This record gives sequence, C-alpha cells and structure tokens, in this order.
Amino acid sequence: MFRSTLLFLLCIVFSFSCQSDPVVEDNSEASISDVSPLLAPYFKTFKEKALEYDLVIDFSAVNVTAEIKSINEGSVAGSCTTNGHDIRHIVIDQAFWNQASHLIKEMVIFHELGHCVLGRGHKETSFPNGICQSIMRSGLGTCRDAYTSENRDYFIEELFLAGN
Ligand SMILES: [Zn+2]
Repeated sequence: MFRSTLLFLLCIVFSFSCQSDPVVEDNSEASISDVSPLLAPYFKTFKEKALEYDLVIDFSAVNVTAEIKSINEGSVAGSCTTNGHDIRHIVIDQAFWNQASHLIKEMVIFHELGHCVLGRGHKETSFPNGICQSIMRSGLGTCRDAYTSENRDYFIEELFLAGN
C-alpha cells in the first residue's frame, strides 16, 4: 500500500516537472505574468540594470503586479501600493502614459519599482543647480527632474546603490 502510494506520487512529480518546464521558461523571460504587457519591457530593463549592481530581482517571487489605468489624482503619474511583503501593486496613470516619452515612462516606472521592490522611500535632496539627486524624489519638493539620456546612468546607479 505504502509502496504504490509512493509510486503514484513519483509519477505526479515526474509529469508535473515535464509539463511545467515550458511554463517556467516562459515566466523566467520576464517573471512578470501579472504585469501589463506594455509595462513588461520596462520591468525587464529594471531587472537587467539591477543585475549590473549584483541585485537579483525576481518579480514573481516578490509578487509584483502592475497595470495602466486612470489615477485621477492631479499630476500623479504612478503609484505603488505595498505592505512590504505579499502586496506590491503598481499603477501607471493612463493619461500620463499616453503623452510621456520613453525616458520619462522609465523614470516613473523605476521610481515605483524603487518603492515596491527596493523598499526605498522618497529623497528630496538636490544638487546646487537645483536638479534632483534621485528619481526617488516625491515630485512635491522643489528640485527639478533631469532624467535625460546623459544622466540616466547616474540616476540608475543612485537608484540601486543609494540607501534612503
Ligand atoms: Zn514616490
């Protein structure tokens, strides 16, 4: 009796592992099945950039979900709702999405991932010329954004290496 049960379990494990291989592969491409396909390329870039700083990000493991929909809160472009473990939901505002450039979309998505995945808070400090030192600025302070192609590497390094 015990023996047949054991065999049965082995069969299940075997067939499961055979069938699940392609699925696992699919997920590992981006590991982000609950992320809007429009946002997925930005998540992928975030993951690749994180790896350059030896940070391994597994979006599935940390349960990140993300969608694009109207936020309707003034100029709010994105939000991260998290309890720090099993809930990490990002919303990118539809109106913002419709008009923003690729770089600005990246800045906002990386900002929200900074909250939701890296656990970073806001940082309002600026350089003497008034430019924000971090993309983790709240947007309510006085510093000015300068997430340009020239500055991108700096801001990405700040995002992954700086604490709060
Ligand atoms: Zn924020």
